[in-house]
Amino acid sequence: MAIIVLPEEVVARIAAGEAVERPASAVKELIENAIDAGASSLRVESVAGGKQLIRVSDNGAGIPALEIELAFKRHATSKLRATEDLQDLSTLGFRGEALASIAAVSQTTIITRHRDDPMGISLRLNGGQIDHQRPIGAPAGTVVAVENLFFNTPARLKFLKADRTEKRNIHGVVTRYAMAYPHIAFTLKQDEREQFRSSGRGDLADVVAAVFGRAQFKRMIPIESSSPARIGQAAIALRGYASLPDLTRSDRSRIVLFVNGRAIQDNALSHAVTGAYEGMIKSGAFPFAVLLISTPTDFVDVNVHPTKAQVRFREPGQVFSTVQRSLRQALLEADPDEYTADQWRADGFTNETINYRPPAPAFAGTAEEDSFHDADLGYIPETADAPAKPRTLPILRVVGQIGAMYIVAEGPAGLYLIDQNAAHERILYEQICEEQRAGSPLAETVNDSQTVLLSPEHDMLLGECAEVLSQLGFEIETFGPHTYVFRALPRIIASSRLADSFPRILEHLSRKDKGIHNRIEAAMAALAAVAAVKSGQILSLEEMRTLVAQLERCASPFASPSGNTALIRLTREQLALEFRRG
Ligand code: ADP
Ligand code: MG
Repeated sequence: MAIIVLPEEVVARIAAGEAVERPASAVKELIENAIDAGASSLRVESVAGGKQLIRVSDNGAGIPALEIELAFKRHATSKLRATEDLQDLSTLGFRGEALASIAAVSQTTIITRHRDDPMGISLRLNGGQIDHQRPIGAPAGTVVAVENLFFNTPARLKFLKADRTEKRNIHGVVTRYAMAYPHIAFTLKQDEREQFRSSGRGDLADVVAAVFGRAQFKRMIPIESSSPARIGQAAIALRGYASLPDLTRSDRSRIVLFVNGRAIQDNALSHAVTGAYEGMIKSGAFPFAVLLISTPTDFVDVNVHPTKAQVRFREPGQVFSTVQRSLRQALLEADPDEYTADQWRADGFTNETINYRPPAPAFAGTAEEDSFHDADLGYIPETADAPAKPRTLPILRVVGQIGAMYIVAEGPAGLYLIDQNAAHERILYEQICEEQRAGSPLAETVNDSQTVLLSPEHDMLLGECAEVLSQLGFEIETFGPHTYVFRALPRIIASSRLADSFPRILEHLSRKDKGIHNRIEAAMAALAAVAAVKSGQILSLEEMRTLVAQLERCASPFASPSGNTALIRLTREQLALEFRRG
């Protein structure tokens, strides 16, 4: 075959294939035109996934009647004059291709009135050829109706997805632009049903909540950052919303990125977003994020992709790191628990914490106790044998441990959270009290006793507490100055750790007189406090089971002897409410 220059008609159809891949890309081009025309209200309608009809109506500037034919010529644009302008674009369109391309592969009707013209004009094209045009009375603005898209390119038509997929794509385009332009009121109607509406009030949060749903939006945090221009660096501003790590999806479809108001697909940027969640979400899960990025216009080259879906940054690394850093920082600063708690309160949800307060605390603990974290002081004997006492709690199944602090368990009524330290204190306290009541000795002889050197202060306390110590079963002999040897010890105190634990026991005992009537009970509570497992101690499943089995038979399982909450219960109803199934 000899070389020929292709006829205009063929060129137009080839070009159309690039810019208008599917109905959603036509919708995108028409929306961009309306935005460029300064519309404040934008209505999109489609029938059969856009294959039968796409109609985009706007209240923007309109097209002067004299220019209407030109608007449908290829490379006809009002937005660009010279090559230099390409570097400094403030409009979404610039190639003058969309209208020509769309019209070439459909039956298109446009009704438009420029705001300075007294009359509007209507123009109809069939496969790119002008059918007819006539003056028409119309409000300022433009309506473009695209019927039977791809009717004359059967190959393209065949490759379109099911209506439902095309509908979803159109929905995606409209909602994305609605988020990027919260000042424009968008309406989307597909197959005669209104699917989406934004208010146009300019509130990004409102639009994001409308797009993703209120429940999801509650799990998103605002992202806001701006870095001023520095030498060699552009000013980059970022705003939007991103999900807390517990709200994810199995694909990237909820990562929505805009650069200077232009929807873009950029793998590197989307990696910057997912990278910010590293270590917070499991692999294969992706966050929700809507990020509106602004840079100086000459910082991005928008002319690198047929559908303008990709851009090239002058300094990709700067954008990448700005996005990742701002996001990461916001995520680290966000306290998901506090957030949830606030939401709970906002939703009128009250956590049914069992607020157990002992009538007269047997032992008044102070905040000082919390400063002790010698983690391995406490231990739980490795036997699940429950004491022969009546149950006060149902049988609980241990699920696991969180934060080396709380045991998660399941019971017939719902979820139980157990503070390991408070619970163990309670268990030990009741055990000692029982032994003491039963008259069985609390202490036993120590064979491998070491000497303990006390500070002068602790030595003084020892003198004051001698009586109660011997009631607890301590047998202590003087070994040297401030130095003692232990002949017998309460069983729950490990002899190997005495150097650590004994001074603490003395400190607890010295606080005896603060409203405590029963001295020996206070002393036993002190022993329990010192001997109990601490927060921060990792427990084996066996240890947790033993602890929970013992707690199930405590007379007062809900709090430690000093009154700290040991057990929180969330009923099924509360959980259902929280998950909106109530
Ligand atoms: P581009 O947007 O790249 O300039 P288009 O083919 O999309 O090319 O549009 C051609 C021209 O038609 C635009 O430059 C603009 O002047 C005019 N135009 C298109 N759509 C609208 C609209 N909705 N309102 C006002 N003018 C429009
Ligand atoms: Mg355009």
